[in-house]
Amino acid sequence: MGYSLWNDRIVADNEVVVDKEDRGYQFGDGVYEVVKVYNGQAFTLEEHVERFYASADKIHITIPYTKDKLYTLLHQLIEANEINTGHIYFQITRGASPRNHIFPGDDVLPVLTGFAKENARPVENFEKGVRAIFDEDIRWLRCDIKSLNLLGAVLSKQKAHEHGAYEAILHRGEVITEGSSSNIYGIKDGVLYTHPADNLILNGITRQVILKCAAEINMPVKEEAMTKEQLLTMDEVIVSSTTSEVTPVIEIEDRVIGDGTPGEWTRKLQAQFETKIPTPIQQA
Ligand SMILES: *Cc1c(COP(=O)(O)O)cnc(C)c1O
Repeated sequence: MGYSLWNDRIVADNEVVVDKEDRGYQFGDGVYEVVKVYNGQAFTLEEHVERFYASADKIHITIPYTKDKLYTLLHQLIEANEINTGHIYFQITRGASPRNHIFPGDDVLPVLTGFAKENARPVENFEKGVRAIFDEDIRWLRCDIKSLNLLGAVLSKQKAHEHGAYEAILHRGEVITEGSSSNIYGIKDGVLYTHPADNLILNGITRQVILKCAAEINMPVKEEAMTKEQLLTMDEVIVSSTTSEVTPVIEIEDRVIGDGTPGEWTRKLQAQFETKIPTPIQQA
């Protein structure tokens, strides 16, 4: 058994009690984050915490803790669970109160919960690439919020799973938006294309790191939406997320991308991404 984050403290997993009238449980009324841990160190933690507060703000939840308090709790969560390589998950809901769509009063405190998990990086995917399917993007128009409401994503990911695919690439009509839990990129003639960070996608922290990596290797970036047909004729396709990092897509709906192996620009981005991963802390 491990340790969980529960409001303002770290407790044994079995001590966490969630109210059946928690609005996260009844309405998906909350927001969340997933942060990768490499060699015991949280990667891009500040960016994730900033986005957490921003997502909460967009749905009018005021997080009742300072960012410093949250940093302390998240570091404690990683240490208590002795995570080397894995991830932490945390979420906040609008709190527990008798079921009613209307927000509860200020006396109802938001509920913060989180856990940590050890798990290896999916290196085989990085090296061999993965398959994807297309699925219509039926989600709402505020995909910029990392909301607990994940029904659209769940249905698409399940469809991918049933087709033996790693990810569902979502499209609104002909236009590619993002993956069900990832961002999508195409590479053509050495130029990196990805949907602009507007209300139709979640602006991934990994996406932001990848755009930085591209600049560092002098790879031009165009934040422009692609159509399904354009994506299929790209030289290379990538999906990214905190846990997927830079994962090559080698097949979409039985259409082979490029020569069906991870391409040279993908490998360059992977190598550049690798330089940013926290290395083990040397003991003095
Ligand atoms: C979390 C998420 C991503 C990836 O964001 P990262 O910060 O890179 O993990 C992309 N799309 C959706 C819909 C997501 O929920």
